[in-house]
Amino acid sequence: MPINQQQNMQSTAPLLLSRPYNFSPGPATLPVAVLERAREEMLNWHGSGMSVMEMSHRGKEFTDIYEQAVVDLRELLDVPAKFKILLLQGGGLGENAAVAMNISQGKAADFVVTGGWSERSAQEAVKYCDVHQAASARTQDGYFYHIPDPQTWRIRSQAQYLHICSNETVHGVEYQELPDLKALSGQNLPLVVDASSHILSRPVDWSKVGVLFAGAQKNIGIAGLTLVFVREDLLGKAMPICPLIWNYELQAKNNSMINTPPTYAIYIAGLVFQWLKAQGGVSVMQERAIQRAGLLYGAIDGSHGFYVNKVDPLNRSRMNVPFFLKDERLNEEFIAGAKQCQMINIKGHKSVGGMRASIYNAMSVEGAQALADYLKFFAQKYG
Ligand code: PMP
Repeated sequence: MPINQQQNMQSTAPLLLSRPYNFSPGPATLPVAVLERAREEMLNWHGSGMSVMEMSHRGKEFTDIYEQAVVDLRELLDVPAKFKILLLQGGGLGENAAVAMNISQGKAADFVVTGGWSERSAQEAVKYCDVHQAASARTQDGYFYHIPDPQTWRIRSQAQYLHICSNETVHGVEYQELPDLKALSGQNLPLVVDASSHILSRPVDWSKVGVLFAGAQKNIGIAGLTLVFVREDLLGKAMPICPLIWNYELQAKNNSMINTPPTYAIYIAGLVFQWLKAQGGVSVMQERAIQRAGLLYGAIDGSHGFYVNKVDPLNRSRMNVPFFLKDERLNEEFIAGAKQCQMINIKGHKSVGGMRASIYNAMSVEGAQALADYLKFFAQKYG
């Protein structure tokens, strides 16, 4: 069945029964329609006699898959022509190094630290340039609850870019809008955005962006693929040490095919893009994200302190909802009970503990409702 007729994410009942709601932070749940389509095409893609895994990346079949994926992605996110779209390997962590090598020119870069991922980005960039924290929201207990007011950021004039993580996957802190660096710094400072864990769940204001990157394994597809959107005027500044495979200019000139790209991951991402278009695109994803997050934060805030999420409500993530049980002795019971109710992977990140529900595009509103109901049930039972 064509993917655009498979409107319903959980399309086959037996499959649904064997597939609990999966709140994994990534690799994460995928639309069942996409998995079914991949299954249908597994042995013989469109009569080619090959699976996508067996195709040459330079052959006509894969070139079509690749080009369609890029066209659909550009359309979904309304990406202006002056941005090159690169489909690379190396993940979000790889990009922390790649951005520094491509844009910093070995000089200086500023970071706004709002959680574990922006903190790690700053640590990685130290190897390539002079790093400065323009702001940090780290609290004494090592947690992050808000995004510092951009007006208070101490941006250096020598910085070649300013890096933010627009959704902190571990700490559940999300920018509701991107900062306007032109207004804040008075210069044409490129904004680098790690959007790994919320890409395609909301529109992007490209007028504020220099480089935006995202690993695919959370809100798009499977691991192994990293999307990079780079503004053309930032190409051609790579440091000599920059590996060929991460040189943005060379990859842009070579359709991201300096070497073998992650072909199957690109194919799955392409299927997800088709699915997103069939669902109504990014605006529909945004509405659903608001609904899902509203259900979970509503249950947490309505629990009279049984569950706690201390992130500033203005900066709460719609994709990753960390929370703690006030009585942590109940943690194991809570996780076991959730599993019995067909809900898995809600344990918090090892660095912070507690719980975390990741509710990306492929999580249905029903899934979030089921978890919200379980939160209420459990609180009533033990509260
Ligand atoms: N940035 C963010 C926001 C992330 O959530 C992650 C992965 N959890 C990374 C970067 C690192 O991504 P990868 O594992 O693909 O290198």
